[in-house]
Amino acid sequence: MTGPVRVCPECGRQFEFTDPAWRCCGVPMRLAEPPAAPVPPAELAGRPLTTWRYAEALGVPAELWRSATLGEGITPLLSAGDDISVKVEYAAPTLSFKDRGVVLLIVQALAAGASKVIADSSGNAGTAVAAYAARVGLPAEIFVPDSTSPKKIAQVRAHGASVNLVPGNREATAAAAIEAVEAGDSFYASHVYNPVFHLGTATYGFEVWEQLGGRLPETLVLPVGNGTLVLGVTRAVAGLLAAGLIPTAPRIVAVQAANCAPLAAAWRTGSAKPLAVESSPTIAEGIAIAAPARGAEILAAVDEIVTVTEEQVLAGRSELARRGWYVEDTAAVCWAAARASYGAWGEVVVPLSGAGLKTGWTPASPA
Ligand SMILES: *Cc1c(COP(=O)(O)O)cnc(C)c1O
Ligand SMILES: [Zn+2]
Repeated sequence: MTGPVRVCPECGRQFEFTDPAWRCCGVPMRLAEPPAAPVPPAELAGRPLTTWRYAEALGVPAELWRSATLGEGITPLLSAGDDISVKVEYAAPTLSFKDRGVVLLIVQALAAGASKVIADSSGNAGTAVAAYAARVGLPAEIFVPDSTSPKKIAQVRAHGASVNLVPGNREATAAAAIEAVEAGDSFYASHVYNPVFHLGTATYGFEVWEQLGGRLPETLVLPVGNGTLVLGVTRAVAGLLAAGLIPTAPRIVAVQAANCAPLAAAWRTGSAKPLAVESSPTIAEGIAIAAPARGAEILAAVDEIVTVTEEQVLAGRSELARRGWYVEDTAAVCWAAARASYGAWGEVVVPLSGAGLKTGWTPASPA
């Protein structure tokens, strides 16, 4: 077994795990295998306290994973009262949930015999790629928008990766990275194009299920920019359902920033594809994605898409900090949405997806 096979949704061509190809027919690939599930809870006891406890659903070679892991996974799940629980995803090796998926991208880079990796990001995926590449001794080149939080850029540089600051929006950054990938022979460690990433983010769903004693809450609220957490978690739900480990699927609610909401606009109008919307800057930099490459896939996967305003995000982040959770702005969107739903979603779990120290915000005034 070499690892998960990818398939092109346009022409059906399959790609072995060791094949570094990153797109086919101009579109992102999908995973060829049907969604898998962990072993039942009783058998999980005694396994490592990392995402590797779900090895059956990851499907990558153990020896490569062992050399690349930084101990990602098993983040705290805590009640925040009023039917809301938070999953503290910033308690990850590089302080965001991206570690769950990036470890697998680096495993694939090793399997493919890469000598260098390239990634583009709004910050956190780039940070994770830089750290995991450093862990296995691979050089990394990271492309980020020049507006990215300086602390995220410092984190990338600290791991020894080279940084390219790209003027303009997130799309310009992706274009610059793709140009560099096409011009050389680097492995493209893309959390957007490579569906192997979703095998990693699926572990978020498995953990919530395991931490709640073998069940999922009524509603999972998730942030959506490129949809890597949404697509991983919906895969986890499908795997748990297929294995008979949950009786029904929870409601999946995705949250966008109102200032940049191509998927929410599509969802409201019933469009199967993201709408071209006027977007304005948002403090939720981690989900400021105007043209998500997997937009149609995300729209098909979720039950509802809502938006939060800048004011709601700011209020949400201070509310969280006042309860002991210091998160970056992007990581407050799900909390803000769940608070604004006035309990309509029943029992919810929201991720705190990135650390406050990533941006280092201070309260506007002493409260
Ligand atoms: C990447 C990221 C998100 C959004 O994830 P997508 O996969 O782009 O939908 C949310 N919060 C934080 C902190 C992130 O780094
Ligand atoms: Zn194809």
